[in-house]
Amino acid sequence: MLFDTHAHAHFNAYQADSDEVIKRSLSKNVVINLVGTQSDTSKRAVEVAERFKNVFASVGLHPEHLFSKFVDEEETSFLSREEEFNFEYYKKLCASEKVIGIGECGLDFYRIPEGLSKEQMLPKQRQVFLEHIRLAKETNLPMVIHCREAHEELIEILQDATRDLPLPPPLQRRGDDDSPPLRKGEGEGGVSPLTGTIHCYTSNWENAQKYLAMGFYIGFTGVITFPPLKKNPQAQADLLEVVAKMPLERILLETDCPYLSPVPHRGKRGEPWMVEFTARKIAEIRGVSYDEVVKATTQNALYLFNKIKLND
Ligand SMILES: [Zn+2]
Repeated sequence: MLFDTHAHAHFNAYQADSDEVIKRSLSKNVVINLVGTQSDTSKRAVEVAERFKNVFASVGLHPEHLFSKFVDEEETSFLSREEEFNFEYYKKLCASEKVIGIGECGLDFYRIPEGLSKEQMLPKQRQVFLEHIRLAKETNLPMVIHCREAHEELIEILQDATRDLPLPPPLQRRGDDDSPPLRKGEGEGGVSPLTGTIHCYTSNWENAQKYLAMGFYIGFTGVITFPPLKKNPQAQADLLEVVAKMPLERILLETDCPYLSPVPHRGKRGEPWMVEFTARKIAEIRGVSYDEVVKATTQNALYLFNKIKLND
């Protein structure tokens, strides 16, 4: 069983065939976390998850929806909607048994709208991210964190937020390979620390170690299967170093579909079952079997998203 911990198979890119895409992945034994990025896609993620076994949802407001910006696509140009984070709205969504995570939320200084600077965007992004942290603590759910060109700032915020919290207990396996891992809190006194995943990780080992030290997990997408960029080959070398050095028990698989499809499907609209190719690449880089990567990453996901009961 594979676990796609970050999919958007409920976005408009799947308007015509979202159900078929989800069923195709479920028939290939892939568990799916549908991740919302604003109020309507968060609500839709919950609605879709409630209709399928082994499909779950995360709810949050992506930093790129905090500011309106001009989006220029081939046929249509439009001003993207600017959205405020409504804590109570998202908290209500969390009442669903199917909501397993808070996000995606985080910081993004990659796309800076015209007329704005990073310094102008940071206070609002930080404030909204802190609200997501508050929601994660209140609901006792792990966070699904997006970070682009903002690791220094994100690490600082998370270090502050986790300073007085105990580390999440390390994943404990039952010893029997086929049984589920021990759940967080089982035999641990029930303290619930702040935890989550740094999704679509593309940074270096130095930053990864800081997230690991705080107890966070790291999600890899199809980006790890891509060839190095000609203008910056070091970035891919840095990323693959992280894949090689990560403790196996903190690695998660994800597609971020419809985006970032792994080779050999690169450039096409992604589907959750394509996590297989990311798992194969991790196995190749680490010199372990594909089955070992599949088993470990699925256990990791079940351990982190500990509200999950499979077949729900
Ligand atoms: Zn995403």
